[in-house]
Amino acid sequence: MLHNIRTILLRIENACKKCNRNPNEVRLLLATKTVTAERIRIALEAGCTLIGENKVQELREKYEELKAFSYDHHFIGHLQTNKIKDILKYGVSCIQSVDRLDLAQKLHQRLLSENRTMEILIQVNTSDEESKYGVHPDKAIELIQEAAQLETLKIGGLMTIGLFSAETEKVRRCFRILKKLQQRIESLHIPNVEMKELSMGMSSDLETAIEEGATIVRVGTAIFGQRQYPDSYYWNEKMG
Ligand SMILES: *Cc1c(COP(=O)(O)O)cnc(C)c1O
Repeated sequence: MLHNIRTILLRIENACKKCNRNPNEVRLLLATKTVTAERIRIALEAGCTLIGENKVQELREKYEELKAFSYDHHFIGHLQTNKIKDILKYGVSCIQSVDRLDLAQKLHQRLLSENRTMEILIQVNTSDEESKYGVHPDKAIELIQEAAQLETLKIGGLMTIGLFSAETEKVRRCFRILKKLQQRIESLHIPNVEMKELSMGMSSDLETAIEEGATIVRVGTAIFGQRQYPDSYYWNEKMG
């Protein structure tokens, strides 16, 4: 696993070199769904600083064992509104998967009552696959304009899951949609909205994502190995 982490850091570095980016601009997020707290601890001890979980239940289960470490915890999974209260208990500093107004509003209500703020990214469905969450690119700006009025939410950028395809150019198209959207939103200068983060790229497509401007790549399999559950378990409405 430590070897895998080094390999990923090298892949990030090489991808950055290829497109003249500074590797410091790209953060590695460990996608730790199904990974035990013990293994996450080893990764943290090796210098990793950013973890992403998909399920509130896993956040809760691993929280006690990991809370002594200093690291950033992001939430990258589909969030049901009835889990909002829970998610705020476990040290999450950014929710990357906000994709609808009612979720933003309920999150805001809860944050208000706790007198807190939260960084969020807006998840965009750039692949047009029904099985994936995320706001449609055509609806993203409207969502951001409305969510920007909820003052507890700090919109920090965009997140997407690229198309699952061995055809790099098709995957690249997804990342370009996200980059273009970022530029359009920046040009609107919406108060309370920053577009600094582009969270895109995973084990199989992180190079392409970095070439297209990713600032966070989310890697699971290439570090922790194959997971027992298919990703549809995490990404599909019916099964999730
Ligand atoms: C699991 C997951 C990843 C990591 O995917 P791998 O292919 O295992 O690297 C990235 N983003 C999200 C939202 C995930 O659920």
